[in-house]
Order: sequence, then C-alpha cells, then structure tokens
Amino acid sequence: MIPFIDLKTQYGAIREEVLNGLNAVLESGQFILGREVSELEKQLAAFTGSKYALCCSSGTDALLMALMALEIGPGDAVITTPFTFFATPESVALRGATPVFSDIDLRTYNMDPEKLEETIRRVQSEGKLKLKAIIPVDLFGQAADYPAIRAVAEKYSLPIIQDACQGFGAKDATGAVAPSMGTIGCTSFFPAKPLGCYGDGGAVFTDDEELYGKMYSILVHGRSSEDKYDNVRLGLNARLDTMQAAVLLAKLKIFPGELERRQEVARTYMECLDGLATLPVILPGYRSVWAQFCLRSPKFREIQDVLKADGIPTARYYPIPMHLLKAMKGYGYKRGDFPCAEEAASNIFALPMHPYLEKETIQRIAKSIARAVGQ
Ligand SMILES: *Cc1c(COP(=O)(O)O)cnc(C)c1O
Repeated sequence: MIPFIDLKTQYGAIREEVLNGLNAVLESGQFILGREVSELEKQLAAFTGSKYALCCSSGTDALLMALMALEIGPGDAVITTPFTFFATPESVALRGATPVFSDIDLRTYNMDPEKLEETIRRVQSEGKLKLKAIIPVDLFGQAADYPAIRAVAEKYSLPIIQDACQGFGAKDATGAVAPSMGTIGCTSFFPAKPLGCYGDGGAVFTDDEELYGKMYSILVHGRSSEDKYDNVRLGLNARLDTMQAAVLLAKLKIFPGELERRQEVARTYMECLDGLATLPVILPGYRSVWAQFCLRSPKFREIQDVLKADGIPTARYYPIPMHLLKAMKGYGYKRGDFPCAEEAASNIFALPMHPYLEKETIQRIAKSIARAVGQ
C-alpha cells in the first residue's frame, strides 16, 4: 500500500533536527510557552509577511480566537463556504453566531466573489442578522480569490477571517502569502496539513495591533498584558505546546523545498491524468500548496475500487456539503441551495499527495485510473 501522506519519509529527512529540538525542550523544562514558541512565531510572521503571528492549539481554536477577537456572537452572521471542513462553520456556530453559506466557484472549489456579494445583499435585506465577517477558505491548498473578495469586503466594511488551515504558504496573484490576506488569518498544524506538527497545533496572523493584543489575551484565559492573573475578558486555554513548536521549527526549514516538490508532483499528475477526470484548476499567478490533489469524475466509485485493489489509497473531501450536515440542520438549508458545492461533493475524490511522491508512482496511479475509466 502506498501512503496517502508520507510522514515517515519526511521524518527520515529531519530526524536529527527534530530529536535535538525535542531534547532541548526536555532539558529546558519549559513545556508551556517556551523559547521555541516565540522563535516559531517570529519565523511564521516573517514567512508570511504578517506583522504578528500567534501560535495556538489547533486550526479550530485559531478560528475561534479570531471570531472572539472580532466580538462575534449571538445575533451575528458570518458568511463562509458550504464546501469546506466542518470546523469552519462549527467555529461560527460555537460562538452562538449564524453561519451563512455562499456557493463556491466549481473550478477552484473556493468562495465565488460574485455570489458573495449576492449573499451579503440578501442577509442585509432580510435584516434579521447583523453581518459581521467573511470566512473564505483556501481549500485543498489554493488561496481564495482575495483581490476580488477584498473588494467586496471593503465595499460592505466587513473583516475577512482567512481559513488557511489547508493553505499555509499559498500565494495569490498579488504574491501575498497565506494566511496574510485577511484581517485575521488562521492556519492548522494538524499532522496531515502541508505544514504539520506531531499532534494538534495552529496559529493566527494579523497586521492589526489591537486584534493581536486581544488574541494574545484570549490565548490564555483573557489575561491582561501586564498581569496574567488580572483577567480582562473570557478567553481559552489555546496554547501551542513547546514540543510541537520544536517540531515545527525543524519542518519549517525544509518547507520551501517541500513546496517546490509539491509543484512538481502536481505538474506530473496533471500531465498523466489529462483527459481521465476533471483536473484541479489553479488560477493564473496563484501558487497552491497542494494540501490535496482532488479530481472529479462520474466514475469515482469505480476508480476508488480499482485503486484500492491496486494498493493505492484515496479519500473523499468532502462527501457532504456543510448545509446538508445534520449538525447544521437548525439553519434551515435544503438540497439545491448551493448547486456548485453539491455538484463537487457528489463526485470528488483525492489521490495520494505529498512532497515525496515519485514520478513512477504517479504514473502507476494514472495507469490504474485509465483502466478504471476504460481508456
Ligand atoms: C483542518 C481544517 C480546520 C481545522 O484545523 P484543526 O487543526 O484540525 O482544528 C479548519 N478548516 C479547514 C478548512 C481545515 O482543513
């Protein structure tokens, strides 16, 4: 069986660096907010061109911290896409706010800026909820259309929370590096993400000093910047462990090289799979970090069966769009509300994707797919 994501080969390349880093943490005894966490924050801010980076315990907590800093709660609406991982609308709902979905562009699977404006107008004309923010998602590693989304957001004075949990390091056509495109950017260091640690982890990014100050406080139970026992608001316990920061410092060193390899792997896939299924579309000037390599095909079931028999794992991101999930039932959506998200969910599937995938393996996968679709 070939691996879907090859963390073992990656570990071989960074073993010494990781073990030395972990050992330094063990020797220091600074398991919470140790030196490695602030060093990582400095490097993450520099990598993305953000003024501030703040590490936290997961991508989900990053989203929660962003929503809390923007004081979003009951009676508020937040627009996001119906084609994402559940943590995106879940974080909004956990704040007591209402997730409002806006359909995707079927080429990129990301928020459609034109539909976004229609959705904003609809929420405003209904007048029931106060629109507070937009959460575009950088799905599968490609940044959303931020130049267009920002134009709409600015027109209606709405902050953008960038869900770059799959998109750390992605670039849009302006050359901006994710997650620096929004008012607040969020990412995840879950092991399977393009930049992952060895457990749960995440980070928030912003250029806004006031929002940074609020998130710094929220990270540790709403502490004040002067005295941690002088709690000034409700917060969370959402710190990143120092051990995970040590792992991430080692992985960040090889990350640029891994991103290059991901481009090569994606290019090879594109060449080998041309005409066999609907291929991913990367907008001109964009750089995806290829968190996933997803195809669409009416024959996806046959393809998955043949690949499985050939020892090639596949996955489905995501088989149920957010508005049709049981957990979202209370918001009154129905099938047919978001045709593009529903179409994507109906026939999408993902192939193995990681920087260590060999050309020969990709050719083997393509051959199996060709056989499955009868070509
Ligand atoms: C993984 C993911 C999250 C949540 O990140 P965790 O670190 O698992 O909490 C949120 N949004 C998207 C789009 C994701 O892919």
